[in-house]
Amino acid sequence: MNTNSHYLNLKEQYLFKNISDRADAYMAAHPEQRLLRMGVGDVTRPLPLPVCDAMHRAVEELAHMDTFRGYGPEEGYEWLRQTIIDNDYAPRGIDLTTDEVFISEGAGSDLGNLSELFSRDNHVAILDPTYPAYTDASIMAGRDITYLPCHAENGFVPELPKRKADIIYLCLPNNPTGTVLNHTQLKQWVDYARQNHSIIIFDAAYEAFISQPDIPHSIYEIEGAKEVAVEVKSFSKSAGFTAVRCGYTVVPKETGLQAMWLRRQTTKYNGTSYIAQRAAMATYTPEGRAGIRLNLDFYMTTAHLIKSGLQSMGYEVYGGVNAPYIWCRAPQGWDSWTFFDHLLNECQVLCTPGVGFGASGEGYVRFSAFSKREDCEMALQRIKNL
Ligand SMILES: *Cc1c(COP(=O)(O)O)cnc(C)c1O
Repeated sequence: MNTNSHYLNLKEQYLFKNISDRADAYMAAHPEQRLLRMGVGDVTRPLPLPVCDAMHRAVEELAHMDTFRGYGPEEGYEWLRQTIIDNDYAPRGIDLTTDEVFISEGAGSDLGNLSELFSRDNHVAILDPTYPAYTDASIMAGRDITYLPCHAENGFVPELPKRKADIIYLCLPNNPTGTVLNHTQLKQWVDYARQNHSIIIFDAAYEAFISQPDIPHSIYEIEGAKEVAVEVKSFSKSAGFTAVRCGYTVVPKETGLQAMWLRRQTTKYNGTSYIAQRAAMATYTPEGRAGIRLNLDFYMTTAHLIKSGLQSMGYEVYGGVNAPYIWCRAPQGWDSWTFFDHLLNECQVLCTPGVGFGASGEGYVRFSAFSKREDCEMALQRIKNL
């Protein structure tokens, strides 16, 4: 047996492990301190009641002989796929059929698994900084990667790749910078992909957080995108499903990948939990929607508090308007980990070092609006007193 040697090219420790190790070490040395967690990339508010009720009902069905179910369709139940189209796409003038929508256990696995559909010699373009999963999955597959720097000087808007890219990962709204692209900007990417026969893997995990007008909520709002884009979505951040596990991936037939993905899923994936799909279905009811809206509003109010608080102290901050993350420049001359350590040691505030999201994230840190409100308020007070 020979192992996949590409794994040797991965960074040794996953970013979040490194952060929690440092936090644990600090707490072991200072057990009397209270750590203010502003680094969390995970939801913290409970699920809306209608979503929980739907799961209870689903469990009850499974408990009785006449309503029990076994395996569902690998692609997900038709009722959920149709509801997704009716709610997330049809109102935006996007035509999709249910066989182009694949229910998943969340975006994370599909973002990695989609990589299987393409040959190894494909060249990948990835925003820098960005969510680490695309880079790691591409490294595991042994592909060459071009990083597209996004920094304050270019308004965090990536330039089109100079070297031809076959696979392009776009995460919009962006984790960690909170950047969005408007229709005109996103159209340049779709046009590029059409000209170069590239595929865009569009991670729209934060779509529900978009608050500004004229920002596309789906890449398929752009003409021609169905030929060149796969859209990956998740109920994790929008509806608080990080534990429940449900998302979906749209693979339009025009991409030429729909049959391949169906073949892949029917072979290697036996479907998303019935209970999770019932929960996802409940997010589209009026009551479910209302509960989710309350949580989203709560997070975005926290985002506003963090952003305006840091701004008033003179920090250079970005994001926090269409995404639950605030991207903050470290004080002049400091790198990400220096600022991270300083905030940990002097304020007991835990953030995420920007460099962990890519080389261009150096000199920044990310604050998360998924943090507890009282932690944020106390953290801002402590940072102010620095
Ligand atoms: C959290 C996150 C995901 C993962 O979502 P799951 O559906 O929970 O796997 C995907 N993409 C981005 C950018 C995220 O921040």
